[in-house]
Amino acid sequence: MNNPFEYNEPLFRPPSEALSLILQLTIGCSWNKCSFCEMYTTKNFTVRKEDDILNEIKYISNFDNDIRKIFLADGNALVLSTSRLIKILKQLNESFPHLRRVSAYALPKDLTAKSNEELIELCNSGLKLVYIGIESGDDELLHLINKGETYSTTVNGIIKAHNAGINTSVMFINGIGGKKYSSRHAVNSALLVNEIQPLYLSTLVLSFPFGMEHFKKRISFDFVPLNRIELFEELKLFILNTNLKNTIFRSDHASNYLPLKGVLSRDKEKLVEYLNIAVISPEKLHFRPEWARGL
Ligand code: SF4
Repeated sequence: MNNPFEYNEPLFRPPSEALSLILQLTIGCSWNKCSFCEMYTTKNFTVRKEDDILNEIKYISNFDNDIRKIFLADGNALVLSTSRLIKILKQLNESFPHLRRVSAYALPKDLTAKSNEELIELCNSGLKLVYIGIESGDDELLHLINKGETYSTTVNGIIKAHNAGINTSVMFINGIGGKKYSSRHAVNSALLVNEIQPLYLSTLVLSFPFGMEHFKKRISFDFVPLNRIELFEELKLFILNTNLKNTIFRSDHASNYLPLKGVLSRDKEKLVEYLNIAVISPEKLHFRPEWARGL
């Protein structure tokens, strides 16, 4: 049998899935219109053939059936029908008896489109975590960056997942609103995460893989980027406005200047203090250099 296992690149996964098996169910992102995102702009969205995926799973299990964590790629595997996802999850459980967690990127609208019963079935079949780029909690900004979601659609989709037992890991983009929207972006994003109480919360810093001019052409407002200090101030305002009970916070994505971690709200003061140092006495800290930010 020839090796059927070949990724369609570029391939992305969250930092916390570094040790997981990555299994591509789709190629690209079904939305693919967010004006800040270049992840899948080289790919036309395609759903991979079910038989190819099932054969791939069986093939991998011949070599390693001790896999514990699996991430379903690409952009938003949750756009697939529940029946197809269940078939794939069943095969994963059969092939990998020690499997503990299956995760995927998801859009709130994909979660909302599924019934409560479907989400519960997915959770019972092993889908334990979805990663959601909430990006911002500010409706005007979400519209301007063409996210295709609002504050309330995001909250509704995520609460629905939680009610079904599926945990969420949500991402906030530091700097996405530039100078003009910085404060309201920070405050409204905090209100959104307060409402959903995610298990995990992480931050990315807005980046420009094809340059600032290319980015400016893709967005519909006069964007003035934040400098490093302003990014820390925005992040501080965001954290100050959070009211979380037990959310694991990380800024471990390569785009961040300063890796932060803690549990919110327990470590809120510590994180704010650290960000104060970053703003007032930056010489006391080591920042990730531009070349190491992987951009
Ligand atoms: S939904 Fe996610 S992957 Fe798709 S375009 Fe938007 S940010 Fe990119």
